Amino acid sequence: MPLEIVTVPCLADNYAFLIHSSDTGKTALVDAPEAAAISAELARRGWSLSHILITHHHGDHIDGVETLRAASGARVVGAAADARRLPRLDLTVAEGDRFAFAGHEVQVFDVSGHTIGHIAYYIADANAVFTADSLMALGCGRLFEGSAEQMWASLSKLAVLPPETMVCSGHEYTAANAKFALTVEPGNAALIARAKSIAAARASGTPTVPSTLAEELATNPFLRAHLSEVKAAIGMQGAGDAECFAEIRARKDRF
Ligand code: ZN
Ligand code: FE
Repeated sequence: MPLEIVTVPCLADNYAFLIHSSDTGKTALVDAPEAAAISAELARRGWSLSHILITHHHGDHIDGVETLRAASGARVVGAAADARRLPRLDLTVAEGDRFAFAGHEVQVFDVSGHTIGHIAYYIADANAVFTADSLMALGCGRLFEGSAEQMWASLSKLAVLPPETMVCSGHEYTAANAKFALTVEPGNAALIARAKSIAAARASGTPTVPSTLAEELATNPFLRAHLSEVKAAIGMQGAGDAECFAEIRARKDRF
């Protein structure tokens, strides 16, 4: 049986994700913005957490960990590089590590930039990557700790995953991201179409996360900074890829 992924809206605009294996009864949670919404979803489905996978140290991704751990005895996984800022970890991981969840391989990517020590989890069997505040739907996380070069390197690792991969990111920021993306590439037909469907989804309260990597590659300006048409659109023909990414990120910060 394939793994089932459930998106759990938390707080004002966060997402957590449940990954459930019906074969084994195991359930992993990616990020714990709060305990209440996650506990309610688990109770509704009759699931109990076996693993909690943490992406980074910000409170809106870890504040629910201790309550959920106490209720379930789940094993908590997080970045070795960030262990000092995370809840107590039962398993510490780093770039390139692989571990098993319910018999499925989970691959770890260091995607520093938003924070140093931010990691993403890729589960090929689930066709999903859990990116939190690194690659986001039509966006990427703000650079609180890392450099533009680091974030560009992080996004470049994710960009080469299979295009059909579901990008399970951490926030519902997509409508605002679409407005900004259109200022970078006003003539991108795929972006124009996606912005319309995002507006419709949000008008009916439908989450825009997860997206697919194919959609992001076609429309997300932060993943497209290396393309000559994007460099031309921002007046930086001939500039380096990371330099163009930095310019787009700086424009978004001012937007
Ligand atoms: Zn964050
Ligand atoms: Fe966040």
